[in-house]
Parts: sequence; structure tokens; C-alpha cells
Amino acid sequence: KYQTQELHAKDLKHNMHPFTDFATFKEEGSLIMAESEGAYVYDTEGNKYLDGIAGLWCVNIGYANEEMGEAMAEQTRRIPYYSSFGHLTTPPAVELSEKLVSLAPSNLNHVFYGTGGSMSNDTAVRMIHFYFNRLGKKDKKQIITRTDGYHGSTYLAMSLTGVEYDHIGFDLAPDLVHRVSAPNVYRRPDGMTEAEFCDFLVDELEQKILAIGPERVAAFFAEPIAGAGGVLVPPAGYHKRIADVCKKYEVFLVSDEVVTAFGRLGEMFSSESVFGFQPDIITCAKGLTSGYIPLSANLISDEIYDVISVPQAKGAMFTHGFTYSGHPVSCAVGLKNIEIMERMDLCNHVKKVGKYFENQLKEKISSLPIVGDVRGSHFMMCVENVANKETKELLPAEAEIGNRIAAKCEEAGVLIRPLAHKNIMSPPLILNVQEVDTIVETLHKGICDVQDELIR
Ligand code: PLP
Repeated sequence: KYQTQELHAKDLKHNMHPFTDFATFKEEGSLIMAESEGAYVYDTEGNKYLDGIAGLWCVNIGYANEEMGEAMAEQTRRIPYYSSFGHLTTPPAVELSEKLVSLAPSNLNHVFYGTGGSMSNDTAVRMIHFYFNRLGKKDKKQIITRTDGYHGSTYLAMSLTGVEYDHIGFDLAPDLVHRVSAPNVYRRPDGMTEAEFCDFLVDELEQKILAIGPERVAAFFAEPIAGAGGVLVPPAGYHKRIADVCKKYEVFLVSDEVVTAFGRLGEMFSSESVFGFQPDIITCAKGLTSGYIPLSANLISDEIYDVISVPQAKGAMFTHGFTYSGHPVSCAVGLKNIEIMERMDLCNHVKKVGKYFENQLKEKISSLPIVGDVRGSHFMMCVENVANKETKELLPAEAEIGNRIAAKCEEAGVLIRPLAHKNIMSPPLILNVQEVDTIVETLHKGICDVQDELIR
């Protein structure tokens, strides 16, 4: 059905992949996914894989859902595109805004659309800058983010990103973004309890704001659980206390829910429902359409909206937006996606089966000799591999431990994401208990096999 060799050749010649070292894809050719169903994807050779990463943390309702295709087709027949600039919009953009607000924390009543997570974080910065400009606080521009936070890949979003590895080879906006520590409980300083670590992190943020000057700090960005930085679940109480510090200094708190929204942790949004805090802006994308079509949304507080939406003299505009802001087909798909999630009661499913996944991984994988930490929540999990469980020392980079474990799983028909010395899992939320068991058993065997190779 598919000419894999030909596709490989064309791919190599013309299709430049994102986030690649070029080596693997030049040496081995790419893995070309061609078909899908439910929690499974098939490559061009017909090999079937249980997708333990939901594409890239995004295919929440699972693959090849006919209703999603129907929603796309129907909206395309009605009106496939119209601009949202100025006073224009379309029915799906309006309807989806109302739906999102009904699911979000009560202070967030306004929605602004883009087409991806990076764009939504860029938008948050620009909106906040615009807000403070309007109030005459033109110096309040600086942004604080966290080491190992991931906020995207545009110039600004990558500047917000604190994963140092991602910065190698680029010099990014050093005069705008400041960093505080990742809430990495596993690698917290020796001798600190989790509670003391929380005190340390909260104090560090406050000291950072004071050092820069509160009159210069506009926003703090944080993911409820940092994803691409290694699934970092913060210490208990962290977010609420961080939110209090931000409020004290008139610093807006942007909660990057690009991964954590739409059911991954068992709630539509995690900031308030899981972690008990109200951010000033939530940014989300991915699971908003289960990845079927690009769409992102910023959920914005009344406080911010009420300032930036006051009409100024004619011609003074909020000059921010994109051709595809509020795209009617994307918004129709977003609406259908949420309708399907609600009809399937997916959040409650995740509360049960996602919790089972978390517990099984912790129970079955933690005791393996090269596993230092199994962490995460529900369908957002990470295994951190080490050379020494006591000292937490890492294996040498040449061991390529994450890649090797992922490769073993791939051979066995399960996709797990390598991330340096770690392996990440974020499956479609529709997974059943048997499929959870398959992932856990395959990962267990993959780690054991690589362990044996390392000893040999
Ligand atoms: N924010 C978080 C937490 C993410 O995980 C990602 C992508 O993985 C982004 C932002 C960037 O989203 P996008 O790749 O859609 O621009």
C-alpha cells in the first residue's frame, strides 16, 4: 500500500524534521506512521504499535475517531475559513469560547485563539506587556520561568523554556527572561525534606522578584506538572504558595496547561481542580483538539481583559493575532472533541485507569536496579534511569539509555518517548486496563534487557 523505500528517499531529500539530531533519521530512515485506530498506530510496513505517548502528549480521545472527521467536513462545507480580526468571528469560535470558560477556573472568562502551545505562550507575554503598558507601567516586562520548564519553540517561547539542552546552539532573549529552580523533588538538595524544598522554591521565587524589582517583573510561567523537562510533580502546596507570592507583587501567573489540560490528570483543567490555584492566564493546545487539527487557546482573567479591552482613541489597537486565530474548522473540532470527552466520561476513566497506570508503574518498575525514580500522575508519567540508585548518578550519555529502552519497546510494539536518560509516557486517555498492563510489562522487559546488556 505504501512505498516505504521511496518515501524514505523523498523524506531524506526534502522533509526536514523538527527536534532531530539528523543522525538517526539519516542513518536509519524515518519511522513513517500511516494509519491509526483507537490507541494504536501503524507504520507504512503495517507494523502495529500501542501508542504510549499519544503522538506527542496530544491524541487524548484516541485515533481515527469518525465523528471528528465529520465535524471537520461539516464545518468545511459551511464556511472553511473566516478571519477573526476586528469585529469578525464565526459560530464555532464563539461556541467553543463559551464552552472553555464553563470548564475553566471562575476568574478566567475570556478566550483568545492561536494554533499551538508556543504561540499561546507568546500571546500570554504580549498580552501582559500590553496590559502593563496601558497602566503606564512600561518597565514591568521581565518574565520569570523555571529550569526544565518547556514552553515551546518560537523565539519567545523557547526563551521562556528552561531546558538548557534546548538552548544549545541558539542565543535567546537573555535580557527578558529569568530563571528559578525546577520543582524537581527527586533531585532536590541533599538533606532537605520535601516540605523544606517547597519552602526553598517559594522563597527563591520571592527573592528573584525582589532582586529584579517587583516594578519590573510582569509574569511567572509554570506548568502544573512540567512535562518535557521530565514530568516534575511539584511538592505539596507549591502552586498555591507560588500563586500567593505572585499576587503579592502584582506578577501575573501563567499556567501552561498545554499538556495537563483536557483530561491527562483526570480533570479538564488541572490548575484549580488538581492543584488548587487560580492562574491569571491558562495556555492550552494539544488535547484541546486531541491533536486532530492545530488549535491553542489562552484563557484570560477578567482583571487582564478589563484593562486591555477598554476602547482607546480610534486607531489604538490591540495589535496581536494570527490569520488562523479562531479558525472555524479547528474550533468546530475542539467543540466535538470536548463533546466526545464528556460523553465518554473520559476524566472519570482517567481517574480510575490513569491512576492504575501510575500505581502499576510505581509498583512494577521502581525496584529495577537502573531505575532511580518513577514519577508523574495518571496518564503523565516518567521513568528516570540512573547508574546508581543511592547516589542518583547518571549513566554516561554514550549509554543512550533512554533511546535504547524506547527502541526495545518499539521493537515489541509499544511507543515510549526517550528523553535523554529518561522515558516518558502519556498515552491516549481511552486506554483500558489490559493496554496499561501491556505498556508496563513491555517497559519492564525493555529496561531489564538493556540492564542485561549494560552488565555484559
Ligand atoms: N507548553 C508545553 C507545556 C508543551 O509541552 C509544549 C509542547 O510540547 C508547548 C508549550 C509548545 O507547544 P507547541 O509545540 O504546540 O507549540
